[in-house]
Amino acid sequence: MLVAPTQVLRGENSLQSAAEAIARLGKRPLVVGGNQTLGIVKPYLQPLFKQSKLNASQATYSPDCSETSLASLREAVKEHQADLIIGVGGGKALDTAKLLAHQCQLPVVTIPTSGATCAAWSALSNVYSNEGAFQYDVPLSRCPDLLILDYELIKTAPQRTLVAGIGDAIAKWYEASVSSGTSTATLTIAAVQQARVLRDVLLQKSSAALESPGGEEWREVVDATVLLAGVIGGLGGANCRTVAAHAVHNGLTHIRADHHALHGEKVAYGILVQLRLEEMIQGNQLAVSARQQLLKFYNEIGLPKTLEDLGLKNITLAELRHAAEIACRPGSDIHRLPFPVLPEQLMAAMVSTAYECAEVSSLRV
Ligand SMILES: [Zn+2]
Repeated sequence: MLVAPTQVLRGENSLQSAAEAIARLGKRPLVVGGNQTLGIVKPYLQPLFKQSKLNASQATYSPDCSETSLASLREAVKEHQADLIIGVGGGKALDTAKLLAHQCQLPVVTIPTSGATCAAWSALSNVYSNEGAFQYDVPLSRCPDLLILDYELIKTAPQRTLVAGIGDAIAKWYEASVSSGTSTATLTIAAVQQARVLRDVLLQKSSAALESPGGEEWREVVDATVLLAGVIGGLGGANCRTVAAHAVHNGLTHIRADHHALHGEKVAYGILVQLRLEEMIQGNQLAVSARQQLLKFYNEIGLPKTLEDLGLKNITLAELRHAAEIACRPGSDIHRLPFPVLPEQLMAAMVSTAYECAEVSSLRV
């Protein structure tokens, strides 16, 4: 089982005291990140490397966590004779670093610079095309060897990244309860229940967290998006997979205009689409009230409720159909729903995520 990283260092300025833990894993680290992040993190990492006499080199994963980037990073590993990979940044940077380490059979350290995903924790990497279209995911042989969660570093990230992280993390409940809610396996039951706890923590604390970055609630919410979301993935494993919310995300990445929305923003919108499908096809009344509750929550914290909110107001019918067809491909996680979904039904759900709400308010008027 791949439940958790071997070691987690967490706290205010935890990176400063990580020299020994890093040096235990290797002497010639290759630091993998985006160009901008590598610049931001350099003043944090340089003193650590000096302190432990590590010979470090760095490389970018640009243009994406893609097969091309991974091929050139494997060359960089060879050239530097790296014996350790350190990933710094958001989900894609960390996914690249983890997969690179997996391919080269090296240990890996993850240093998230935002609360946008649980990629620092999980034993899974998503691979995209150079243009950012989702291709496939790769289960890894283990969770990272060391995760360094430094609140000071996370605090420097734009607020929007944590909002996206809240969207990605809250999806765990809506997806796990559908894919695994009836499981009788002890660890899967535990994972689904943790997902419910995670949802409740986020519903209760997100607004206060976003109002005071660095404060008590903010830390709790960062722990929820980066750590607890990872625990659930670890406990649930392959039995507790993503469903329609992530399938909708995957479909959207194949639309060219989509690329300024973050992973968690698309997933958050995908939850509403999933609930809408449950409502339209299954007549599920619980899905109706869950969607109303989420629409209110999204309003409070600024998660996208519609295609327009995602910046896709001018999407063509052909593009919408393309995204829906990708999401409904054989083998897509959307088919973990307890009923079949056709692209036409998915398209109808995608354009009506805020529908009921509008109708209810117009009735009230
Ligand atoms: Zn996700």
